[in-house]
Parts: sequence; structure tokens; C-alpha cells
Amino acid sequence: MKLNKIAQIVGANDSNVPSVEINWLLTDSRSLSFPVESLFFAIHTARNNGHNYIAELYQQNLRYFVVSEMHPEFEKMTDAVFLKVEDSLKALQALAVAHRNAFDIPVIGITGSNGKTVVKEWLYQLLHTDYVITRSPRSYNSQIGVPLSVWALSESTQLGIFEAGISEPHEMKRLQPIIRPTIGIFTNLGDAHQENFSGLKQKCEEKLQLFDQSEVLVYCSDNKLVEISIAQSAFKGVFFSWGKSDKATVQIVQKEKTVSSTKVVLKYNAVESSVTIPFTDDASIENALQCVAVMLYLGLKTAEIAKRILLLEAVAMRLEVKEGVRDCLIINDSYNSDLNSLSIALDFLNQQATAKKLSKTLILSDILQSGQTSDELYKTVSGLVHNKNVQRIIGIGSEISKHADIFELVDKTFFEQTEDFLKSPILRELKNEIILLKGSRTYHFEDISEKLELVTHETTLEVNLNALIDNLNYFRAKLRPETKIMCMVKAFAYGSGAVEVARTLQHHRCDYLAVAVADEGAELRREGIRIPIVVMNPEKGSFGMIFDNKLEPEIYSFRLLDAFIASAEKLGLTDYPIHIKIDSGMHRLGFEPKNMEELLTRLKNQNQVKVRSVFSHLSGSDEAKFDSFTKQQIDTFTDCADQLSGAFSHNIMRHILNSAGIERFSEYQFDMVRLGIGHYGISSLPDVKLKQVCALKTIILQIKTVKAGETVGYSRKGIVNEDKRIAIIPIGYADGFDRKLGNGGGEVLVNGKRAKVIGNVCMDLVMIDVTNVEANEGDSVEIFGDNLTISEVAGWLKTIPYEVLTSVSRRVKRVYFQE
Ligand SMILES: *Cc1c(COP(=O)(O)O)cnc(C)c1O
Repeated sequence: MKLNKIAQIVGANDSNVPSVEINWLLTDSRSLSFPVESLFFAIHTARNNGHNYIAELYQQNLRYFVVSEMHPEFEKMTDAVFLKVEDSLKALQALAVAHRNAFDIPVIGITGSNGKTVVKEWLYQLLHTDYVITRSPRSYNSQIGVPLSVWALSESTQLGIFEAGISEPHEMKRLQPIIRPTIGIFTNLGDAHQENFSGLKQKCEEKLQLFDQSEVLVYCSDNKLVEISIAQSAFKGVFFSWGKSDKATVQIVQKEKTVSSTKVVLKYNAVESSVTIPFTDDASIENALQCVAVMLYLGLKTAEIAKRILLLEAVAMRLEVKEGVRDCLIINDSYNSDLNSLSIALDFLNQQATAKKLSKTLILSDILQSGQTSDELYKTVSGLVHNKNVQRIIGIGSEISKHADIFELVDKTFFEQTEDFLKSPILRELKNEIILLKGSRTYHFEDISEKLELVTHETTLEVNLNALIDNLNYFRAKLRPETKIMCMVKAFAYGSGAVEVARTLQHHRCDYLAVAVADEGAELRREGIRIPIVVMNPEKGSFGMIFDNKLEPEIYSFRLLDAFIASAEKLGLTDYPIHIKIDSGMHRLGFEPKNMEELLTRLKNQNQVKVRSVFSHLSGSDEAKFDSFTKQQIDTFTDCADQLSGAFSHNIMRHILNSAGIERFSEYQFDMVRLGIGHYGISSLPDVKLKQVCALKTIILQIKTVKAGETVGYSRKGIVNEDKRIAIIPIGYADGFDRKLGNGGGEVLVNGKRAKVIGNVCMDLVMIDVTNVEANEGDSVEIFGDNLTISEVAGWLKTIPYEVLTSVSRRVKRVYFQE
């Protein structure tokens, strides 16, 4: 949409607004990619103020802003356009309404207390072969998320599916015209986000406003309150209900659970049929039946519906079972604390408990913002605990403690604070039980799970996050302030653990992350990483995952380009960001310079993908003897990038420097650099000492004296010529301790002194010679770290630090710390 048109829509009438094309709406300054075509909405929320990021965005060449405040520093930005409005959020919403109104297609709008995201994702799974669907990403259902979701509607969209969530009264009235669903789904009514509603009824009525103009409303009629509220609401379309009653449009005649699925017999238009839902928990059954009803309304045949329902796949669950200490199982559900999710989690607890016949324990914090009085709330909780056969409850928090008497269990203990429980002997007595941890975030139940989680291994890789940031800043100082940094977190962040490292880098405002394969990117998204992520090897089978997680693929060949475009087309996506890799001389993946013309033609003839950046990789940036070749690579790359930029009007970022490149060729930083081994502490310059980020450590399990003439370890390789003291440490080749370090091939550090490896390296154990070292059982052993560098270990192995770092196997527990 043109900026001057947007100005009109948002009511910022200023005749000087240029008619430039705006393709991207931005509310989070951190996701800027295309400054020239982006419009930033500076939104002032309770926690943050978007206006504070305008100067920074201006620095990054963004010029178009919707603002509600004029700050003095804006005056200096003479070439920027400020659309001044009363309320930037309302302006964003008004723009989304105008965009929505340009489409005359079916749109499904979903609201309700639980299940919105699952129903949306399942409808997508069930209907994407029939329609090109645009849907809300993840659970983008807020006052900001909904307009941004709807903005994604494009000419190719045949069906929109959007979810709407509200946490305060009067919010739905604003979301309704943005989604304007033709088909409404009311998932269910529960007490999540209850605190601002005078009662369930008010909330129900508020939610129903989403459907004011819908032609049909799909809902479960078993909940009387929902039924009555719908009857009394402004909704004038078709009631498409499902439920036990024979008055329901779709009558549920029978439900029968087996071990892994649920058969449901239903009656629609007087004809009986059945579906088998591949789930057994009540929430999934309810969500699946909502989808069945929608498909019936859309006119799908019952046999076809049954076929598709059988293939439903779980949408990522947040409940996870982990092995705990003393034969416990731990379910840590600290995501959301309300009665509904407690009830769901208790169901899950029951399911898991039956498999292992363990007794059931609930560790529960105060439930915040329930909207109920404490008396009512904990009475309900007590009822739930009782009904779900929990055998023991440990309550943490002042409110739940006050209501200790309400709980009828014999085995109950209460603590005011999490720390009190951490110090209590009860924590150390938990055994043979399955424990559900359900805490509001502020109670930091992760401190409890850390204590209960099983530690199987004395060997750890310590990751120093401060060192990581110091190293990042060392490289940053070599760059212009506006140059972006892409941090390479491929291969489990060079072995250090991708999630924690990515979280830290995101926090310190790195601009992009890069992973090797889509799985790695999806994991980062699951863990809440929001900044752009590039996938360097986007395998064909992973495109779905790439789209679902908003990952951005590296495209290096025509085969890949064509497949990716076809895939985007199927999903009705347009302008999906991609990154073009040029082979400028390394002869690994990449388009060759001679391919450029054809590449331009193919890119111009489609609108499914849009090139966000073009890049290449240097093959010898760390060695002076290759400097002229490096320059040649840069020239070749520049030439290709010029051709690409020349063919498109939007800005295409360029980048070629890796860590060594930043240190040795910073004049070629272009728009972005790709920092890898550098932030993990390895420099290409001999006199630069970066901070060690990773330290691999273990402990001494046992010490013994071995007499002269005996041997140590497999194949009797460790020959003992004189009496020796031998220490056994729990690390082996399965942990990434290379066998080449055996038989004196390498050393470790004990109490500041070197000890040689004696005998062969075993799978899980290594023997070291501590004859001349003061050492005791339980002492710490450094494999590499502050005092024994990765580079030295790499030298023994005749390899490079990269391999040493990435070889530390996954079973080695990563421990993150900040100094
Ligand atoms: C791994 C990688 C980098 C980072 O290289 P370092 O030498 O670790 O800095 C940069 N670009 C590409 C394409 C890579 O694969």
C-alpha cells in the first residue's frame, strides 16, 4: 500500500506524504529488515515505548513512522516522515481493517479461552489441500498480533484463519472489524485471564462480539452459559452447534476411548457416522470436534472428514516429562498458571502416572490473576486435586498457604516462598513419585526443577555468557554502528548449546541468527527467539517447518529455488524472505557468477519469494598467504551482488565476512557480517586473546596405585614401568574426548598441573597419570578451558578449534553462567 494512502486511512492528513510503497509493518524495532519499505508504528505500552527506538531505526535508514508523541530528537530527522496520530495502536488496527476490507473471501475467526491455536493449526492441517490459507502465526492473537496477522492476507489467499484473544473488556470490539470472520468458532469458556472480568458471563458476551457479522457460528452447546449467551447476543447468523443434546446441529451420540485414540459417533442431518480422533485427552477431543463441525459446515463428506481427522498431528505441547532424582518423573509446566491449564496438566500427570504406577505429587504456587476470590479459587483447586487423585500437595505462596485447611489430603505441606521449600528436607525426600510442577512465573519453579532433574554425569561444559558478550563486543567495535551482525549458532552454537546462547545474543541485540538446518531454527523459535533466523541448508523436507517458524532459507541452487517457490506458492505466501548464496571461489554451495542472468530472470518472474540478502563465504580469510585470493572473491561477489541489486528496487543486504574476515578485512563489512568462532573465543590474530567461553570439566571418580609391570585399560595399552598413581575420570569418546588423546596423546589439567592420559580412551572413562600431581578423589579436572586452550587440544589432534568445540557430545550437560 502507498504511504499517502496509509496516511489517509490512519487519519494523519498531511499533503506532503510521499507515495512510496510500504510492504512491511513493524512494531518491534528488532525485526527491521527492509528499512526502505517499512512503516514503524511506535506503540506506547505499559512496559515499553516504541518512540524510544525511532532514533535507532532512523540510523538504520528507516524513514516512515506512525507516532503519537513528538520527541525533540525527531526534529533533526528532516528527511523522515512522521504520521502523527492520536493512538498508534488504533492506527495500526485501522490500517488492518482497511486491508481486510479489500478481500471478499471466507475468513474463519476463532476465540475462546483455550484451544484457539490448536484449532487454528488443526484446521490448517485439515483444509490446506482445499484452500490457500493465510493464518495467524503461532498464537498472534493480541491487539497487535491480530492486525499484523491480517496484514498477511494477499491476493492469493482463499481462506483466512485468525485467532483473537482478549485479556481486558472492550478489546474484542476492536478486533472484530479487523478479522470480520464469516465463519466463527467459539472454542470454549474457562477462567484463563479472568482477572479483569466481573464474571464469566461478561467475558462470554465480550468474546461473542467477534461474531457480530458472521454468517455462521460453530460452538459446543454442552456449556449452558455459552448456549444462553449466544442466544442473547447480537449474532444473527446460522447456529452450528455440536454436543450431547439431540437439539445440536451435530449430535455426539457416543465417545469411546481406546489406548491411543477416541472413536466418536455423531449424527448430522439425521445420518450417523463416526470419526476416530488420534488422541485421548478431553481437550484434544473437543478441539478435534470443533474442526469436524467446521468441515461439515463447509460441506465435506463424512468419509473424507474421517480420513483427514485420523491424520491429525499434535501441535507442540509444552508439557514435558523428564527423568528425576530418586526414580521420580518430573513434569514442569510453568507456562501458564490458571485453573484450566492446571486441570489439563493434572490429566497429563494422570496419564503418565498410570504408565509407571507412580504416586502423584503436585507442587503448586499461588495462582495469580484468576479473577476469583482466594476462597473460591482454592476451593476449586482443592476439588480438582481431589478429583484427579493427587496424593500429595506442596503449596508455595502466601495465598495458597492461607488456605491449607481447604485441602483434604493427608500429605500436604505449605511454604511461603520457593526458597523456603528449596531449603526444606522435604525436597530431598521426594522419591518414586511423579511430580507436576505448576508455578506462576514469578515463583521461579525452574530452581526447583533444577534440583529435581536427574544429573547423570559429572562431566559438564561450562558456558560463560559474559565472555560470549565481551567477544561479541570486541568484534562489534571493528564495525560501523549500522552494520548488522549475524551470529552463527549452527551446530548447537558450535557445541555450546544453541538456545541459551541465542537467547543471550538476542538480548544483546544481534540482528540475525544462522543455523544449519530447520530443526535447529524451530527449536530456537519454540524457546522464544524472535529475531530473524537464516537456515543455511534448507532441506526439501523441512520447508513446512521453515514457513511455520518464519525461518529464512539460504538459497544456493536453481533446484532449491524452484522447489522453495513451488512450496511457498502452495501455501499462498508472497514475498517470503530468502538469502542468495554466491559461490565466489570457495566452490562449496552457491550460485556461480555465470548463473546470475538466469537467476535474475527466475526471481523476476515470481512473487513468492523476495531476496533479503545476497552473500558469499571466504575460503581463506584467516591466512595472509591467501589475501589476494580473498580480494578476488570479494570482487567477484561485489559484481554478482551489483547485478542482483540492479534488478530490483528494494534494498538487498550484502555480507561476506566471517570472524577472521571481520578482524582482517573490516573495510568489506558491507551491510552485515557473519560472526562465528569469534564469539566463542577464537581469534585469527596471534596477539589477540579473546575470552574463553567454553570449559569442559569433569571430576576424579577414583584414584589407585598401579604397580610397575601392570597395565591400564583396554588392550593392555597403558604400560606401567614404575609404580604410578592413576586417576579415573568420567569422560570418554562418547562425550567427544577423542581416542587420539589416549596413550599420552593429550593432557588434562588437575589442580593447576598437567596430567597425561594413560592407556586407551574408553567409551565413558579415561585414566590419567597423577603420579606427580597432588590430586584427590572428587577433585575437578579441566579438559579445556581458561588454563588449557581449545587451540592446544586442537593441536594435539591435528585439527582446528571448530572441531574440538563441536565434538563435545550432547549428553554432556551444558551449564550456563554469568559472572
Ligand atoms: C560457519 C559460517 C560462518 C562463520 O565462520 P567463522 O569462521 O566461524 O566465523 C560464516 N558464514 C558461513 C556461510 C558459515 O557457514
